[in-house]
Amino acid sequence: MNGQFARQVLEQLQSRQAEIEKFIRALVEVESPSGDEEGSRAVVDLLVQAANKLDCVSAIDRVNVPDFGQHVVIRTFPEQSAAGQILLVGHTDTVHARGSLNERPWRREAGKIYGPGIFDMKANCALAIEVLRALCDLKATPGCAVTLALTCDEEVGSMSGWPFLEQIAKSHDTRCAFVMEPPASGGRVKTGRKGTGIFAIKVEGKAAHAGLEPEKGASAILELARQTEQLHAINLSGSGITLNVGVVHGGTRSNVVAAQAEGEIDVRFSTEAESLEIERILSNLRPIDERTRVFVSGGINRPPLERTATVVQLFEKARAIAAQIDFELGEAQVGGASDGNFLAAMGIPVLDGLGISGDGAHAVHEHIEADDIARRGALIAGLLTTDYTD
Ligand SMILES: [Zn+2]
Repeated sequence: MNGQFARQVLEQLQSRQAEIEKFIRALVEVESPSGDEEGSRAVVDLLVQAANKLDCVSAIDRVNVPDFGQHVVIRTFPEQSAAGQILLVGHTDTVHARGSLNERPWRREAGKIYGPGIFDMKANCALAIEVLRALCDLKATPGCAVTLALTCDEEVGSMSGWPFLEQIAKSHDTRCAFVMEPPASGGRVKTGRKGTGIFAIKVEGKAAHAGLEPEKGASAILELARQTEQLHAINLSGSGITLNVGVVHGGTRSNVVAAQAEGEIDVRFSTEAESLEIERILSNLRPIDERTRVFVSGGINRPPLERTATVVQLFEKARAIAAQIDFELGEAQVGGASDGNFLAAMGIPVLDGLGISGDGAHAVHEHIEADDIARRGALIAGLLTTDYTD
């Protein structure tokens, strides 16, 4: 990758700024909350329409996902596939319910573009296509085939998106994966993501009249409270594990010692070892009041994306490309998980958070920085044309 090429891509994308913004707007204005089949299909329609115009595209597959809509995979530069493939990964679903667009329509103000799901990550779906277009137009050839895979259920845990991505990753020798999720503050790419787990704790106590004979009861609520206090102490241990009992239910009436209570637990961890540790802790919970019984269910949902040497290598390459177009690329390790976590667990080098700078993912002030579109595109084009065969 030479610096001249990155600058060429930058200029190419800058010359298409208005068209790219129009494309992003079209995607944002088709609402596609996870589970909205019609919205999902309509977004995929727009992306496929654009991809169909590119010479480098060799195949487009739309995969029906019952109750969600469609995943789409766009294969490009097939003549390079002997050298393996590079995966570009994203998602077309958002967390914003239908009607959000009415309340918060597309708005461009002081260099920022607002709209539901624009930052996470409709703008990046558009950018992925635009980067491929720039490579075609500039007659640049990536070192490997490039496969763009966009899922439709990422925001609700990728139950279907994960096996879909896994199968694509296994279909060719996958050299690396670039995940187009939003970057961390300051446009920093993500070189580490915590893994996640979802657990439930259920306590069975013993009911009794709270006024007449409370001593005959064993409060499930008290037990759950004590367990919660012990579990939350993990957060102070200085490890990479964080745990939150975020929802509790229990009891029937205020004058009855509660016979049952339950809590929902979110856990995050930085390493595989910590994931085993948290599973060990939760599967070994013992009642503090021995008259109660404690049950734990659930499990690990996404493995961690660890900042391994291969991840750092990818980041260094990205940083060098960014420097060629005069911006300083930072990195961050974050608590939130993405589909990058799954790919990393397969042993694929992953660089995540390559999307356009902005802020407010999942929030009402969600926006991107218009200035960053071309720059981020040039960075991604640079990464796609880097040699990963060594
Ligand atoms: Zn996302």
